[in-house]
Amino acid sequence: MMKYILLSIIIICTKSYAQIIFGTNNYIEYRQGNLPIIISVPHGGNMTPSSIPNRTCNSAVTVTDANTIELARQIDSAFVNATGCHPYVIYCHLHRSKLDCNRNIADGACGNAEAETAWNEFNNFINSAQSLAQSQFGGKALYIDLHGHGNSIQRLELGYLLYDTELANTDSVLNTSEYVGYSSIQNLVATNVNAYTHSQLLRGPFALGTLLGNAGYPSVPSQQIPFPGTTTNYFSGGYNTAHHTSYVTGNTVNGLQMECNYANVRDSYLNRKLFSDSLVSVIQKFLVKHQTINFSNCTLTSIEPVKPLDDLLISPNPAKDYIQISYNNSVTDFEIEIINTLGQTVFKTQNQTILNIEKFERGLYVIKLTDQHKNTKIQKVLFQ
Ligand SMILES: [Zn+2]
Repeated sequence: MMKYILLSIIIICTKSYAQIIFGTNNYIEYRQGNLPIIISVPHGGNMTPSSIPNRTCNSAVTVTDANTIELARQIDSAFVNATGCHPYVIYCHLHRSKLDCNRNIADGACGNAEAETAWNEFNNFINSAQSLAQSQFGGKALYIDLHGHGNSIQRLELGYLLYDTELANTDSVLNTSEYVGYSSIQNLVATNVNAYTHSQLLRGPFALGTLLGNAGYPSVPSQQIPFPGTTTNYFSGGYNTAHHTSYVTGNTVNGLQMECNYANVRDSYLNRKLFSDSLVSVIQKFLVKHQTINFSNCTLTSIEPVKPLDDLLISPNPAKDYIQISYNNSVTDFEIEIINTLGQTVFKTQNQTILNIEKFERGLYVIKLTDQHKNTKIQKVLFQ
């Protein structure tokens, strides 16, 4: 019996699952990737278990960074679309009223054991991700602690552990060993292949902020906006930036706190997607330029075997918006499931021959076929 399924698939791709690990009570989520990029998301969570009292210690800040988990997931997808590989991403799902994952453990967990466990897991996952990324890419890796700010000026605030008053200095002051020693990209200053200075890496033509500004996302510091001014509540970087970057002696990972403005960056699905695509393009340019990291070399750590679907034939169709899948088997009782790169099932059907695929976003998917004998086969595809 022949089954026909219509899907919009162009390229068959053999890449890439992220391995997903959840911490205790699912408060912390770790996606082990295979790119030299580590992203943490400390303030986007919304879990408010009653077993953890609300934080009140040490003038606790409890406002969350809206849509930053959603943004990180879309950045993850944008990396997969651009490279076939995943960044490492660590999410804190506890609401900031229960745990602040960008503070030291005393201020962040306020003495609650359950929150302390989550805090330790969050930081241990970052350490683990950095070790793996460094071993895969010869010690080179970029860390972004992803946030959202509520300041009125709509621009990205890039925090390299330099205060607004420090960034107001001249380039020559920023290039002194004293100021380089304050920086969360001091390894990059020492090792970048063009021998660019600290100030050039902060606000020269090939600085991260400058490349983002050129892509339509005003950023500070950058060539366009060299320093934030001292009345703007600029975020210079917090606990994570100070503890998971080359600011720490012996750590070669360069990093920053990225505070995203709301309008045009994280306010809607479409704007998050546009920003994610631009950010991924900029990060690639930045790392190729300064560290000659070749993204096409990302090695894939698949947690599921990839087997061809012997009986499920995917053939490109001249029409751009779909291809034909023929299921050529006598099996009459079967299930087809389509799973996105986040591990979410986006389509599932039993014994059905035609699928309307138009609702799917561009990206990598897995088609999983299970017959009545519970035999399972999977195939990875890229929807364009
Ligand atoms: Zn934040």
